[in-house]
Amino acid sequence: MKILFVYPDVNIKGAALSFQFGLGHLSAFLKRHGHETFLHYVRSEADVENFGRITRDISPELICFTATSAQYKYVKNILAGSFKPDAFTVCGGSHVTLLPEELENTPGLDAVCRGEGEYPLLELTKALCGDRELTDIPGLWIKKGNEIYRNSSPPFISDIDALPFPDRGLFDYQSVIDSDFGTALFMFSRGCPYNCTFCSNHALRQVQQGRYVRFRSIEKCMEEIGNVLAGYRVRTLYFNDDVFTLKKEHVMNFCREYKKGFSLPFHINTRAEILDGEICKALKEAGCSRVNIGIECGSEDFRREVLGRTMTNAEIIKGFRLVSDAGIKTKSFNIVGFPEETPSVARETVKLNAAIQPDSLVVYIFEPYPGTRLLDVAREKGYLDGNPWEEPFAPRTDTVLEMPEFSRKQIRRVYENFGFNVYRHSSLMKALFYRVYYSRYGDFVLKLLSPFKKILRKWIMGV
Ligand code: SF4
Repeated sequence: MKILFVYPDVNIKGAALSFQFGLGHLSAFLKRHGHETFLHYVRSEADVENFGRITRDISPELICFTATSAQYKYVKNILAGSFKPDAFTVCGGSHVTLLPEELENTPGLDAVCRGEGEYPLLELTKALCGDRELTDIPGLWIKKGNEIYRNSSPPFISDIDALPFPDRGLFDYQSVIDSDFGTALFMFSRGCPYNCTFCSNHALRQVQQGRYVRFRSIEKCMEEIGNVLAGYRVRTLYFNDDVFTLKKEHVMNFCREYKKGFSLPFHINTRAEILDGEICKALKEAGCSRVNIGIECGSEDFRREVLGRTMTNAEIIKGFRLVSDAGIKTKSFNIVGFPEETPSVARETVKLNAAIQPDSLVVYIFEPYPGTRLLDVAREKGYLDGNPWEEPFAPRTDTVLEMPEFSRKQIRRVYENFGFNVYRHSSLMKALFYRVYYSRYGDFVLKLLSPFKKILRKWIMGV
């Protein structure tokens, strides 16, 4: 069967292309079962318009969309266009997993997939070939006539080693690498055990039964890295697991095996309070050149009570120091504009970053996700009206909340000045770079400076 995947990735801050792991996994799995897969990567409004031409050229029997909450409006736009595909249409991803009622509100969409899509899609291909009933496929809500068939989801896949490696060839993967300074992305685990109230993980964990956090074996990780390095020009690897150092023994083994076979630098994400000197030393010896750590908010009380993150500021500071002392660069992740946040809480986030002085940082404006506790808080407090995912701005660069104690203008001001205020006493040039980058004209200015982007990155990020 010919299967067309559609990946909307429109109006994103920053220039890098992305590799969507979910689609990569589904494509690999469906190819293993004899199907042919194609991708329409929707990067601009023009690509939304091109959907008809591409679908006519390929003539797929099945069209699979995926979308984050902010991108779901493009799925609706595509399906509302003048071109009506003959193929069966299904959408997956975290947004419809947690808000499957979108099926009723999206004309032209035949089904949504709730949770991991490998087996639901495989069963769907069988149904479309007439080999099984369509309306009772586990994991799918299906629209047929005036009926919606709401099937519960199958358990989480327990052995992820049994799955094929993600199909990077579905994308123009060399261009994806080149667009991000030669960085190839990997994700060796599924799920995260923490309960941060702004993140989808606590809600996604409820959709399926079974063990949510799963790891690939070290042997499989090494095999996947080897395959990618044999097939593409890569300068850096980014192990983009939610919390790479979750299991100490696993990390130590990973580092030992990695350095036996590979020499390229790599980046990871983790939480500050689970780091120790031994882990940092092992990471450094294996070639780790940057550790990304979520601070998210600088107020200990707010972080614990509103965000469900129980680490102390002292633990965060210590985590960053351990990484720096091991000779590895650090990058902090931060969010402003949470429901119930005040300007003084946001100032604490700036202050904590200024005290830590990470080598680089990222700041976002809070975006609510379906099924999360903080979305409920925003609605209960009356900060949010209607559909927050229809806004025209780039995701996480502006707020959808109306909060009397922290106005949209104030949130934007904290966001735009965040990096400047963190670095203004330590490096005026870095401070100015962040001031420009997080202004409304940041992407435009960076495009002008793109001939110097490698120098800028080395200078700003240190890697
Ligand atoms: S640790 Fe990170 S990935 Fe895990 S729940 Fe919290 S924000 Fe989400």
